Amino acid sequence: MRAFTLLALPLVAYALPAIPFGTHLVARDDKVFYLVDNECREKPEQYDKLIAALREAETIVKTVVKEWWDDGQHRDAADAYLGIQEDVDIKNDKDAKIAYANLNRVAHLYGTTPAIGNYVHFHCKDHWHRCVGDEHDKGRPVVASTKNNEVTMCDRFWLETTTEKKYDTYKDLDEDSINMKGLQSVDVRVVVHELMHTDMIAEDRKHIEDRLYQGSRVYGSEVIYEWIHEYKARTADVINNADSYALFVMAVYWKGKFGYLPKPSRDAVLNDKKECNGQTREYFSRDPHYGHIDGFCNDAVNKYEPGNSGKHEKRYYEGLPEEVKWNMQWQASGHEDAQTVLDKCISVFKDLIDGCDTNDHLRKHGGGFTWASNGKQEYQFTIAPVRERPTRSRTPGKCDVYYKFLYDEFFLRGGGFAGYDYGQDQLLPKLRSCGVVSEWKFTYFDELADDDDAEWEAYGRLPIGSQQWGCVRDAMQGAGHEGSLKCGGH
Ligand SMILES: [Zn+2]
Repeated sequence: MRAFTLLALPLVAYALPAIPFGTHLVARDDKVFYLVDNECREKPEQYDKLIAALREAETIVKTVVKEWWDDGQHRDAADAYLGIQEDVDIKNDKDAKIAYANLNRVAHLYGTTPAIGNYVHFHCKDHWHRCVGDEHDKGRPVVASTKNNEVTMCDRFWLETTTEKKYDTYKDLDEDSINMKGLQSVDVRVVVHELMHTDMIAEDRKHIEDRLYQGSRVYGSEVIYEWIHEYKARTADVINNADSYALFVMAVYWKGKFGYLPKPSRDAVLNDKKECNGQTREYFSRDPHYGHIDGFCNDAVNKYEPGNSGKHEKRYYEGLPEEVKWNMQWQASGHEDAQTVLDKCISVFKDLIDGCDTNDHLRKHGGGFTWASNGKQEYQFTIAPVRERPTRSRTPGKCDVYYKFLYDEFFLRGGGFAGYDYGQDQLLPKLRSCGVVSEWKFTYFDELADDDDAEWEAYGRLPIGSQQWGCVRDAMQGAGHEGSLKCGGH
């Protein structure tokens, strides 16, 4: 322990290279930014492990910066852990530029001329009780902790394995058994994580934190991936989270080792996901919309190009009660061929229409479907009603028939049916069973009528006859009016 005897306080030694503390830093103009406290030397294997992890972190981050930023590779890994989507023009993207600047700082931490007293100081004793953790750690052991430029390595850190040993354990497994959850716990990842927290990395940019998601720190491949891709965290938040960088860097590293990007989780995180809409006042009738599935999907797939993002959107029955918005979107990461996408589109929309509200033929709510092909690519389909419509508990329906000597005339009001066809498909044919219909007039309202929630009114004349009151009522009910109805008038 030569250093102890030679040096005045504080007892520290420079890690890269190991030189004694003192005025030498400035005088020699050493390009040293890491300082590993002498207390770490008390157990040589600890000191060596930390130094090795620091060197490796620098090497790996340098490679990652070059391949990602300079060569444009690893967009999949940046999408997975930094939330920078694959089709983003990174050189002109604010978030990507910040992420690059932060990583580049780690890559060049060693080798930059330091200002006086400006360095990252690694401690191996918990001087400030930072290894205890807080409520956001949820009982997980603290591996290391950083404040300003002071990094405390907790006891748990020394149990972290090296990339070399980790690779030995995994190298003979097949792709299905390899994932970031298993690969992520290595000492280098901890070092990159803690370095991201230091003031020296962020410089004048926003200090990088451990962000919170569902009450816990956003740590680890599974949580980060879910936070980005399911919770849809903003990229500005993702690049403000230390472990996002650590996982991005390690993902690229393991991709280089295995030749593919390991999936984030033991089980594929992304599954197909279907969500039915449930708003009682927003619905559409099955049959007219079901008939549009093939047309919509064919139009969408005509626009679709594998590897390019895009969307197809269409409103059917615009301005009418049955107005429904259809949408299909695909991301640049999607590489399914057009035929596969067409088949999927058709089956998804059939399911979104018939697989939601399964015991209700008239009132369908639609919904959304996310197709996760290959566990990471996304295609989205949605079908959603646009207009507010009458509820069952207040079904609008009015039926008045008047005897006019030469003819009977009828006034009808309704809603929840005949929402797109001006009565042509059902109501009018059914009324014709009462006789020849003349002076037929059918009008949609712009919105639900204030007094009775009606969506439309209709007028027409029929031949005279005492049976017409009952016949017109039957026609309304046959066309879709729900609940009881009695025709008034005289
Ligand atoms: Zn942290």
